[in-house]
Amino acid sequence: MSNEILVNITPQETRVAILEQGVTQELHIERTSGRGIVGNIYNGRVSRVLPGMQSAFVDIGLDRAAFLHVADIRDPKPEGDAMKPIEKLLYEGNSIVVQVIKDAISTKGARLSTQISLAGRLLVYLPQESHIGISQRIEDDSERELLREKLRQILPEDEEGGYIIRTMAETADENDLRADLAYLHRLWRDIQQKSATISAPVLLYQDLDLSHRVLRDFIDEDTARILVDSRENYQKLVKFSQSYMTCIAERITLYTGDRPLFDLYAVEEEIERSLAKRVNLKSGGYLIIDQTEALTTMDVNTGGFIGVRNFDDTVFKTNLEAAQVIARQLRMRNLGGIIIIDFIDMESEDHKNAVLAEFNKALSKDRTRITVNGFSTLGLVEMTRKRTRESLAHVLCEICPTCQGRGEVRTAQTICYEILRELLRESRQFDANEFRILASQQVIDLFLDEESQSLAQLGDFIAKPISLQIEESYSQEQYDVILM
Ligand SMILES: [Zn+2]
Repeated sequence: MSNEILVNITPQETRVAILEQGVTQELHIERTSGRGIVGNIYNGRVSRVLPGMQSAFVDIGLDRAAFLHVADIRDPKPEGDAMKPIEKLLYEGNSIVVQVIKDAISTKGARLSTQISLAGRLLVYLPQESHIGISQRIEDDSERELLREKLRQILPEDEEGGYIIRTMAETADENDLRADLAYLHRLWRDIQQKSATISAPVLLYQDLDLSHRVLRDFIDEDTARILVDSRENYQKLVKFSQSYMTCIAERITLYTGDRPLFDLYAVEEEIERSLAKRVNLKSGGYLIIDQTEALTTMDVNTGGFIGVRNFDDTVFKTNLEAAQVIARQLRMRNLGGIIIIDFIDMESEDHKNAVLAEFNKALSKDRTRITVNGFSTLGLVEMTRKRTRESLAHVLCEICPTCQGRGEVRTAQTICYEILRELLRESRQFDANEFRILASQQVIDLFLDEESQSLAQLGDFIAKPISLQIEESYSQEQYDVILM
């Protein structure tokens, strides 16, 4: 019981930090204006079926149509094992109940499934299924059978459906399970009723907001308390937990201190660090984290010179530390998709295995689904982490408008020479009395000083006056050549 969850709420956003032994391990930020839609259930309308891609676009009432692939369609009348083609399952204009499984990311629309699942605290309810599954994180076989039996005993006879028993159910008693079941069944009845009475496209169910998801998804038996810094929301959360998960109500605490909650626990600093490209290691080495559209790379480096005598040992220790730090950074930054890790090269197979073992151990606290492959022939570790909500950087940052994300801008000198070429081009093409260069301060300064001769020579050559004008709002790469 040593973990704490901090909930910082303003009207604009909710921020949640999960601290384990006083150290921030996870950050979640939800903006009121940009709330994700994963878990939302809609009655949608099929707007296009694309047999070539075995997928369909579904209008769910948002700006952009959502995407449904045949693999995510639950066929109510399957013919043997073979999957029916999408054009036999869906038709344009059909209304269809769908759930969002992935938020719209960058240019891709939200991704849908027709397989409905409703998450409770202990159970996930699958109304269209009939089996009982168990979280893979509950490993013990007899424990699994016991839980399955416990649930079977209390299942109401008039409610159909399948269930997945979540890790949290391990320590739950019968009353907790009954409360979860009642909540889920009530939810599903409401959804069905709404879908039968309101025509598509319509939102049938919106997943809980972040502060409520904290209570449902983030609390476990190690959570000592949940600190909330808004009285109004504190009261809402207590009320929600009293009606549905009484066991945690007493762990919710109102924070009334003068210092902002995230300052007090140094979470602001952690957020700052989680956006940096470089992460320092205690051993003197450092990580460079590069996040691109397609994948994330993490490059482990030793700091400075290492003596030959302790070389292997230093490399090994740096990689061991990096393994822990990387696992934490994955959670903090909420990085998803393909991740490639370039540990410092190790000769010894024992060392490689030990680093992998350390890495897997550090990853075991992560709630997100992860697969790690061993070292490739090039010495890289490839892994995937399930991508659901946007990464921290995507929530808080945008591509740098000056360099468009390249991380580099052309030098002022390069721009000067581009401008001179542009002047020459335009003087040949147009008959102007005079030319004026609009550019940033740095570029104009260069024309007045080091490049003044180049400018004068060109002026002589084209036999036209050239004037300069600083444009404060221009970035170094921006300029205009104006004909007067
Ligand atoms: Zn930039």
